[in-house]
Amino acid sequence: MKKLLPVALGFLLAFSLSASLAFSAEEQHWGYSGAYSPENWHKADPSFAMCKEGKNQAPINIEPRYDVALPALELRYGRKGETVLNNGHTIQVPFSNGNSLTVAGGAVYSLQQVHFHTPSENTLAGRSFLLEAHFVHQDENGNMLVLAVFYKDGEKNPGLEPLWAAMPQAAGRTAKLTEKFDPMSILPASLDYIYFNGSLTTPPCWEGVRWCALKTPLTVSQDQAQALRNAMKGPNNRPVQPVNARPVLN
Ligand SMILES: [Zn+2]
Repeated sequence: MKKLLPVALGFLLAFSLSASLAFSAEEQHWGYSGAYSPENWHKADPSFAMCKEGKNQAPINIEPRYDVALPALELRYGRKGETVLNNGHTIQVPFSNGNSLTVAGGAVYSLQQVHFHTPSENTLAGRSFLLEAHFVHQDENGNMLVLAVFYKDGEKNPGLEPLWAAMPQAAGRTAKLTEKFDPMSILPASLDYIYFNGSLTTPPCWEGVRWCALKTPLTVSQDQAQALRNAMKGPNNRPVQPVNARPVLN
């Protein structure tokens, strides 16, 4: 009996461990800590190979290398967000068509969703920020453009409040917003930006994503950043990736 007990316990442990792994593989699959943290995303699924093999991955440490006359960005965000989702990796507000970003003389992109990372994923000349928002857009050919906005440690950001008040604590939950979310309310007045080619910063890490990082940061309070960290059960930023041969345009 004394010899059997450890075996039985071992079996039970192995069983519950594999059950929880199966659950996490299905529900979570990858994360920012644990077995499938960013350096191991490619091991979580064969379709995540680009997370390791890509040469144009995001985020990066943004150090502009070329001064060029970048085309101006024009935003027409008329539609407000009505729900907020906790997908286990971020807090996200979906948008139906109606909010557009135009690169002067170029493509028109439609805002798909806005989500958040704490601390920031990209860094600006080595500087990390408390929060970064990603405004994810797509044009009619499926090309993606992410508008990135930084928030430094400071005053509470009032534009975030409708989301933060309703933010679900459990992964997989969506909440209806009591007060609608205006995406313009968390953007700086100046849309001056730095441009680089990159990828999704989450699996499957697909490349060919156009990145416009706004130069002017807004503020966020420590309490607001902490509230997002609590809902995410920790930080939700992928570390910066090698720039390699990419030009970073200013
Ligand atoms: Zn993101």
